[in-house]
Amino acid sequence: MTDYAALLKESELKATFQRINILETIEGHGHMSIDAIYEEVVKTHPSLSLATVYKNIILMVEKGVLVEVSIAGKKPKYELLKEDHIHLVCIECGEVEDKPKNSAADELFISMAKQENFTLNKKQINLYGVCSYCQEAVA
Ligand SMILES: [Zn+2]
Ligand SMILES: [Zn+2]
Repeated sequence: MTDYAALLKESELKATFQRINILETIEGHGHMSIDAIYEEVVKTHPSLSLATVYKNIILMVEKGVLVEVSIAGKKPKYELLKEDHIHLVCIECGEVEDKPKNSAADELFISMAKQENFTLNKKQINLYGVCSYCQEAVA
């Protein structure tokens, strides 16, 4: 279990009950849209507004606690900052699956950045396609 309070403090954020609850919710699901996060969090904090949840999520993205995963044609999802990994993103259902990072791909990006004299800060590798479940649904 992650120590969310410590995580927030490390990122110079006050460890409010709401933020901890948002982080817990996201970690429990892996990747979530703001709407889905709100639906969960509001169960424990009925007075919480969508705008407040939104503001907190954006702030935690800015501080590097959360990472935004863009999904083509859909609302982005958010996850906790984890070790580098690869995303398989389904453009049909919006499901995001984590796959361990690939060292061959990693080497390619590092050498590419070096060649282009580009300082690489962070990388997110998203592969977009149709998941096996959605492929079956079509058939
Ligand atoms: Zn799918
Ligand atoms: Zn992920």
